[in-house]
Amino acid sequence: MSEQLTVYRADWVLPVGQPPVPDGVVVVGENAIKDVMPSRNNTLPIIDLGRAAIIPGLVNAHTHLEFSDLDAPLGQPGIEFTEWISKVVQHRVGDPAARKKFTIQRGLIELIQSGVVAVGEIASTPVELDDYRDSGIDVQVFYELLGPNTSDNPRLAGCQTFLSSPSSGISKGLSPHAPYSVSSELMNHAVQLADTHGLPIAMHLAETPQERELLEHQSGPFVGLLQHLGTWNPNNFGEDRQSWHYLERLSQISRGLLIHGNYLTGKELDWISQQAGLHVVYCPRTHRFFEHASYPLQAMLDRSINVAVGTDSRASNPNLNLFEELKFLSTQFSQLDPMQVLRLGTLNGASALGMEQRYGTLEKGKSSRLAVIRSNQPSSVNVSGSLDWLFSTHSTCHPLRSEHPSH
Ligand SMILES: [Zn+2]
Repeated sequence: MSEQLTVYRADWVLPVGQPPVPDGVVVVGENAIKDVMPSRNNTLPIIDLGRAAIIPGLVNAHTHLEFSDLDAPLGQPGIEFTEWISKVVQHRVGDPAARKKFTIQRGLIELIQSGVVAVGEIASTPVELDDYRDSGIDVQVFYELLGPNTSDNPRLAGCQTFLSSPSSGISKGLSPHAPYSVSSELMNHAVQLADTHGLPIAMHLAETPQERELLEHQSGPFVGLLQHLGTWNPNNFGEDRQSWHYLERLSQISRGLLIHGNYLTGKELDWISQQAGLHVVYCPRTHRFFEHASYPLQAMLDRSINVAVGTDSRASNPNLNLFEELKFLSTQFSQLDPMQVLRLGTLNGASALGMEQRYGTLEKGKSSRLAVIRSNQPSSVNVSGSLDWLFSTHSTCHPLRSEHPSH
C-alpha cells in the first residue's frame, strides 16, 4: 500500500536554503517531506492554509526547562549578573525534585506550541532522561557539570549513569556550566568524556564583563559570589585560564556550542570562524534582560560563524517562545533580511545541534514536522509582495500539525 500523502498550500513556502516559493505547496508523507514546489506543478488535492507561510519547524538551541514554571524572570531587568546567579541558586534549593518532571513537561509543551521541533536543553542533576522522552520534540540533553574537582564531585556519578543509559530518541551532550563555576580539572574531564563518547559540549562563555574580569584579573563581583558559595579557588584562575583556554578545549571535540558569547572579542571571533565544530547560541531577550552591551551578531555573521538562537530559561525570559525571540531579534537587527532571521531559528539551530539531516530546511527526506506563520493583518500577506510581515508584531507561529485534519 502506498504511503498517504498530504499536500499543504500557502501563499508562501519558505524552504530556507532555497529561495522563497510564492503560492507554493509542501508534499508530506507520514514522517518526511516528499516535495516542495509551486502550486501550479501540483496535481494532488490540497489543504489550503491561505495567507500564511509554511516554514521548517523552529529549533531552540538553548534552554533550561527546570525553570519553566516561573511566571516571571528572577530579579528585575538590568539586575547585576552575580546577584541573579544567587537567586537561581536559591530557587534550585527551594524547588522540590518531585516537581521537576512536571516543570520540564510544561516547558516542552510551551516549546511545541510555538512551532519548535528540536531543542538543546541543559539538564541539572538529578537528570532523568525519561522526563524528555516521547514529548513530540527532539531533545538534545546536555548534562550539566559544575563545581569542584572530579574526586569529590557528586555530579560525576550521575553523569556515568547518564552516559550509560539507553538514548532511545534522546541525543546526549555535556555542559560544563561556565568558566566561573567549573574547576579546571572538571573542565578537562568533561572534554575527555565528550571526546571518548563522541558527544557535543554546550558551555556558557563570555557572557558578562564580570566573567572576563574574573578570568583576566581574578577580581570583580564573581570573587565575592564564589566565596559566598564556598567554591572560591584562586588556583582555578590565572594566566592560562582565559577565554582562549575554553575556546581551544571546545574546538578539540566534534561539536561545541558557545552559549551567549556576548563579550567575545573580534580576535576571538576571527578564531572561532576558523573552527568548523564551533557554534554560537544567541539568546536575544535574555541578552536584553541583563541590559548587556549590543550583541556582536553582525560581526559573527560577517565571519560566517554559525549563530543559532535560544530562549534560555524563564529565569531570564518571560516565556519560551522562540518565534518571539526571532521577532525581537529582527527589531534589534533591522538590517537583516527576514530570510536571514528565519535561517537563524531553523537551519543554524539544527546545525548547532547536529540535526541538520532531519531539520532546518524544507527539503525532500527531512522531517515533516513543519510550522506555519500567520499574521493578524492578513492583508499584509501577499504572494506578489514582500516578506516584511514575517517577523512583525502582528505575526504568530504554530506547529502545522495542529492544522492537520483528522483522517
Ligand atoms: Zn543558559
